[in-house]
Amino acid sequence: MKRVYNFSAGPAVLPEPVLKKVQDELLNYRETGMSVMELSHRSAPFQNIIEEAQGLLRELLSIPDDYRVVFMQGGASLQFSMIPLNLLGEGQGADYIVTGSWSKKAVKEAEKVGDIRTLSLKEPFEIPVYTPEDFSPESSYVHITSNNTIEGTRFHKYPDTGRIPLIADMSSHILSEKIDVSSFGLIYAGAQKNLGPSGVTVAIIRDSLIGKAPDTCPTMMNYETYVKHDSLFNTPPTFSIYVLKLVLEWVKENGGVEGMQEHNERKAALLYNCIDESSLFHNPVPEKNRSLMNIPFSTGNDELDADFLKGAKAEGFEFLKGHRSVGGMRASLYNAMPLEGVKSLVDFMKKFESDRGGC
Ligand SMILES: *Cc1c(COP(=O)(O)O)cnc(C)c1O
Repeated sequence: MKRVYNFSAGPAVLPEPVLKKVQDELLNYRETGMSVMELSHRSAPFQNIIEEAQGLLRELLSIPDDYRVVFMQGGASLQFSMIPLNLLGEGQGADYIVTGSWSKKAVKEAEKVGDIRTLSLKEPFEIPVYTPEDFSPESSYVHITSNNTIEGTRFHKYPDTGRIPLIADMSSHILSEKIDVSSFGLIYAGAQKNLGPSGVTVAIIRDSLIGKAPDTCPTMMNYETYVKHDSLFNTPPTFSIYVLKLVLEWVKENGGVEGMQEHNERKAALLYNCIDESSLFHNPVPEKNRSLMNIPFSTGNDELDADFLKGAKAEGFEFLKGHRSVGGMRASLYNAMPLEGVKSLVDFMKKFESDRGGC
């Protein structure tokens, strides 16, 4: 069987050694005589899995002691509701920096709960540097989407929010580059882009933001429930957490976050150089705000884009079609995308361009 190069934005490519390990352990997980899917979430083997997953994430991101790591369901999208439900008391509000489609969705949910002030971009692909004066002093938190999966942009410098907690949706680039966790109040990410399969959502929360939810907050929407019960209040997505743990082991074996960052910068540079040198393909993002993970590009001609996508698929490059709101192409180069995949894509783009007489 031939595996393709999968450029999907999510669910996305997983490291092949992880998939092989899942396969090896599928029928009989470590002499239990059953698969991880069949293990009780209260059993010792599963307790070990979830503890190891937490420990690995703490180690890889150097998470300070006054932060908790929790595993939840409902995707990053449920966090759009959970964050305001936990952190906005009666009459309180928050600031949201709107850098793309996912930020807008986060705002839409938060507005149902509190008084939300939005900060929009002057240029759609340019994210400025923010300082404490940009935010309302009575704001309970500032929310950002640190990597914009659809637009292909990212913050090159995180906002300085002063004493207001900064909350980041890192769904599409967590573990792709080094971050200083202590400069955030809360970080969250759906796993299906850079951490594992779909079904589990990770949050890293500073202690001081836990236990603030009003009594009306549903139990399953309250961060405190997950913290108090080590993410085992109810049945967690056990298999997803298991695969996530294997992905974290793979990250550690491959140089940790630093190793990932080096690898990701090389991959992204290859593709951006190809686009910038091309007279056929374009990317609209100024260099400093370019995402390392999600790289949109197009020829500016829908028919030609469609031809490109058709040819690419025939060569084993999957899910290169851009998001429907943007069109064109998008290559997602998450941690698990091998350098070889990007090299092959670049070769294909060069060949396509010379065949079409682009230069
Ligand atoms: C994919 C994505 C989401 C949505 O994640 P779900 O887990 O599907 O809810 C939210 N934010 C960002 C930045 C994303 O890339």
